[in-house]
Amino acid sequence: SSNLPRIEFLSKDNDEPHQEKFEFTPTATDLSYAIHHKQLVLYYQPQVNMKTGATHGAEVLVRWLHPKFGLVYPDKFITLAEQTGLIGALTEEVINLAIKQNVQWQKVNKSIRLSINISVQNTTSLKFPEQLSKLVNKYQLNPSLIVLELTESVLMHSIITSLDTLTRLRLKGFQLSIDDFGTGYSSLSQLHKIPFTELKIDKSFIAKMGQENESKAIVETCIMLAHKLNMEAVAEGIEDKATWDLLLAAGCNIAQGYYIAKPMPANEFDQWQFKQHILLGD
Ligand code: C2E
Ligand code: MG
Ligand code: MG
Ligand code: MG
Repeated sequence: SSNLPRIEFLSKDNDEPHQEKFEFTPTATDLSYAIHHKQLVLYYQPQVNMKTGATHGAEVLVRWLHPKFGLVYPDKFITLAEQTGLIGALTEEVINLAIKQNVQWQKVNKSIRLSINISVQNTTSLKFPEQLSKLVNKYQLNPSLIVLELTESVLMHSIITSLDTLTRLRLKGFQLSIDDFGTGYSSLSQLHKIPFTELKIDKSFIAKMGQENESKAIVETCIMLAHKLNMEAVAEGIEDKATWDLLLAAGCNIAQGYYIAKPMPANEFDQWQFKQHILLGD
């Protein structure tokens, strides 16, 4: 409506090219080397409050900076990590890098709410909540600044084993997000047992909501479900203003996507935030 501020975003060159120069099929040995030799780097994609445009946080997205193949995207190595038992070490590295970055941000300005993707394998260890708690305490970070994202599709297969770990994480003050919602056929009676704090609607529905009434209806229903279950509704993969407007009208709380900004290294994220701050005048 007209009393909402006009929200503009800077991003122009906002397409992340998912192209590699060579076809690269990593082995477990390659990936293990990468994890232990600092070849993993973190990109940060802003998430904004839809009513004010203010930065709400960022999603942490891992990339492999390969000396020969360049920037390798997670779709090339996360499944491999999950299948070879490397996901424990990978998640640990991602969390360590993200927390250290947040400590830097806390020193110069303010710490940022970071959403970190974890795999369901990470939730089978009851030690995980305790380890994560120790880590944030060591750096004096508030655990509520860490949001753990779990993909709906895999979660529902292991809800019994994950429930205990996820509940412990929540009790320790971490936030929990159900990612790619709508693609996983979750049983709603199971879903509400896990203390999720946000519901992240899959980008396949967001991408089509402008063209397809069914997708729009699904998105609107997910937003209502989130609110009825006391969760925040997050939309990923917003690529244009038309989609933004539909989501705002549907009451979506938090937005993420190329329309707002692409994922970027920490230093570029700083610049984006600085310019966005001036643009919004907040
Ligand atoms: P996700 O968690 O659903 O992350 C969103 C993906 O959508 C990211 O792809 C992001 O770059 C991309 N994206 C963001 N905005 C847009 C948009 O407007 N349009 C389109 N078409 N795409 C957009 P990315 O970075 O390639 O990551 C792919 C998946 O890999 C993630 O999906 C997540 O499931 C997984 N992943 C990424 N980092 C990690 C990690 O550190 N650990 C684990 N376990 N998984 C990760
Ligand atoms: Mg995610
Ligand atoms: Mg997602
Ligand atoms: Mg996804």
